[in-house]
Amino acid sequence: MSDLSKPVQAENNNDSVSSQTQTAPASVRSLRELIDLVSGRNLKSSGAQEESGIAEILPFPFLGLVGQTEMKLALLLSIVNPAVGGVLLIGPRGTGKTTTVRSLIDLLPEVQRSACFYGCMPEDIENGGIDAVCPDCARKYAEGKALTITDRVRLAELPLNAKLEDVIGGLDERAVLHERFRLKRGILSNADQNILYVDEVNLLSDDIIDAILDAAAQGTYTVRRGPISATYKARFIFIGSMNPEEGGLRPQIMDRFGLRIIVSGLSESKDRLEAYRRTSAYKSNPHKLINEFAAETEMVQSELQAARSYISKVELPEEVATQGINLIRNLEIDSLREEITLFEAAKAYAAIDGRFITEMNDLRAVAPMALRLRRSIFMSKYFDERKEEETLLNSALDQHFPQDE
Ligand SMILES: [Zn+2]
Repeated sequence: MSDLSKPVQAENNNDSVSSQTQTAPASVRSLRELIDLVSGRNLKSSGAQEESGIAEILPFPFLGLVGQTEMKLALLLSIVNPAVGGVLLIGPRGTGKTTTVRSLIDLLPEVQRSACFYGCMPEDIENGGIDAVCPDCARKYAEGKALTITDRVRLAELPLNAKLEDVIGGLDERAVLHERFRLKRGILSNADQNILYVDEVNLLSDDIIDAILDAAAQGTYTVRRGPISATYKARFIFIGSMNPEEGGLRPQIMDRFGLRIIVSGLSESKDRLEAYRRTSAYKSNPHKLINEFAAETEMVQSELQAARSYISKVELPEEVATQGINLIRNLEIDSLREEITLFEAAKAYAAIDGRFITEMNDLRAVAPMALRLRRSIFMSKYFDERKEEETLLNSALDQHFPQDE
């Protein structure tokens, strides 16, 4: 295992790293450097590609994606620290939004999942006593058996034609046939501790997007059907993508995504050429291209896991926080979510840079993705008008009810 798993408190390692290194680098100091390095190098193989003849769909390797640094960074930050509050990718077709999200699959960290249908967890017992879990789990716990299994975070995609019932769950119709009421789980409860991805999120109906955003914000949701109700855990990272040519997103929905990325096509012709080479290499033999990045992919996966495990210990010094708040006030952003997103993203950035202390530069690095599309022109105009009205009102009051000096 690499020694990147432990964050360093101070920067004293000035090893310079060549951006052309072709082997898994031992001298890279942090996950951030590793990603910059691997993404920037040129593909090893060239010339004729042999066909593999394999038709299965494998995700394109994340580290093999050319450019799109901000999109990749935002996705990694949200995995390291789900408190960032999700990511919205905005851009035209063909800019690699969906490919990039799907390419995360091989990097995703491990989590502890309940091994039980009812979702019982050991912390339920720690918080609420033995009656907080089902009888089966209570027995297992008493016998010293594990209630959880180790599993990878998974990527769940919400199909656009999903109905509200599919999303939150509903009555189990087969049980109803036998005159029993039972709820079946929906996509949101199955997304617990996973990533939920919605392409064309701007085309979802309002009731569905509200249900998703409420569940994502609270981490749980309740379904009531007839005489029964159930509360499910739904702690997931929400990633949406949209093409603004196909319709906008209501400002109040937009505000509920933590980070927003404007995705445009690659502008440098050398990048476009490299992207073309990798895409054709992937098309003719996906396994071969994936293997080219396999060693680093494994490293990044374990670094993400480590960063995620110590994110709760990353500190935000008061002077950094104050600077962030001043910035938000200067930009006249009113959303209270703003501080949360900005600070949690900055902490995640410190973590992937291998540090326990958040610095000004971390704020600087994440501020554009946390702040853009936040400033409501409507609201600032509204507040200006209210201020004007208040002045008029006060002068009228002074006129009609003069105060004795
Ligand atoms: Zn149970």
